[in-house]
Amino acid sequence: MSKPKIVVLGAGYAGMMTTKRLMQKLSPEEAELVLVNKHNYHYQTTWLHEVAAGTRNQNQARMLISDVINPSRVNLIYDEVVEVKKDENRVVLKNSEITYDYLVISLGFETNTFGIKGMGKNAFSITDMDSSRMIREHIEYQFAKYSTSANPKDDDLAILVGGGGFTGIEFAGELVEKVPELCKKYDIDRSKVRIINVEAMPRVLPGFDDDLVAYAKQSLADGGVEFREGAKISECKKNSFVIGDGDDAEEIKAGTIVWTGGVTGSSILSKSGFEITKGKVTVNGDMRAPNEDNIFILGDCAWVMNEEEGKPFPPTAQAAMQHADTCSDNIKALLRHQPLSKFVFDDKGTVASLGSKDAMGTVFNDNKLYGKPAVSMKKVIDNRYLFLLGGPKLILKKGKLRML
Ligand code: FAD
Repeated sequence: MSKPKIVVLGAGYAGMMTTKRLMQKLSPEEAELVLVNKHNYHYQTTWLHEVAAGTRNQNQARMLISDVINPSRVNLIYDEVVEVKKDENRVVLKNSEITYDYLVISLGFETNTFGIKGMGKNAFSITDMDSSRMIREHIEYQFAKYSTSANPKDDDLAILVGGGGFTGIEFAGELVEKVPELCKKYDIDRSKVRIINVEAMPRVLPGFDDDLVAYAKQSLADGGVEFREGAKISECKKNSFVIGDGDDAEEIKAGTIVWTGGVTGSSILSKSGFEITKGKVTVNGDMRAPNEDNIFILGDCAWVMNEEEGKPFPPTAQAAMQHADTCSDNIKALLRHQPLSKFVFDDKGTVASLGSKDAMGTVFNDNKLYGKPAVSMKKVIDNRYLFLLGGPKLILKKGKLRML
């Protein structure tokens, strides 16, 4: 008799951890495992702002999937998912097709520009390894161009960061570190380079406590970041943001524009006929898609309701990894005809980096951390993931080892 086939789509935090857990929880005789991903490498999405700023080499933020997932146990397919034909238990890939008995959709996020005119066309976004690398190269090109131009324009050196959420603030923190390095390399006065963070809400870092926000803003302002809060971008032009409209509109020019202000779940979800709320599928407590007995949806593709607060948990790598635990437990339970368990979020806190030497956040029951203790905690969080994925060997190879 053929074994049930479990197909995992997307090798990010959720997909890698689900595959890893399924390898641990199921015997090779119990199920066939397949992992599909666009590339042959896995990258840590939470490090992409460092790749985008150029403070971390792209190869430090990625690894070959076959280095951590045993290809003799899991069939690794490097291809792009085009659509899930859920009524036929089939996935259409760019170059082939694959059938499944159980499906895990963990295809991550896409940029959401909220329909801001010109944003999709004119701004970069930090979505994957390639887009992050393009930002790094573009920024460096602006500096090189300025230094060799007969008629250099200071606006070309300015970097506009749209969105003051977690990604925008962490990216600005890396720029604070990178810009002086580029200034030195290209012999440019640091005071000529503006880093401007633009946020529509009254303050940056929504969801963070006031003291933590004040700390982060001060840290970045000390490094030269200008904040424009309560500033609604009405248009993104080739080299500027337009803030506000009508007679009050203001234009801020820059040579580099990066939009970090919004994400949504993979568009494969809507294309495949799932019921979508704000770009994602609201999953059942057991992480399955509504009315689908054999399809799990995880990570940034899923809304998981926080029933106490009546709103979904925020999408994070921490949550994605925990989704993977519940999902792999429940696939095992389905195979063994046992009851399914319900996802319970264990909030270990959140730490945001402000460059490599500063950070702030909360850990375990809202204890606030600032400065060096927060930097160390952020590294512990990053290294813990590597440990769960590939043990101490992977930490030694890819980890953040210098604690301070
Ligand atoms: P991802 O990790 O993004 O993985 C999706 C995978 O699917 C990728 O490998 C991608 O290549 C693949 N894929 C996508 N589409 C296709 C397709 N069509 N076909 C085949 N493969 C495909 N969260 C935290 O908890 N802490 C942090 O400090 C933090 N910092 C962040 C910093 C940045 C710059 C960003 C962008 C996010 C950060 N987050 C953080 C959020 C966190 O990264 C996401 O919540 C997490 O990555 C979600 O995991 P995932 O598995 O759903 O998606």
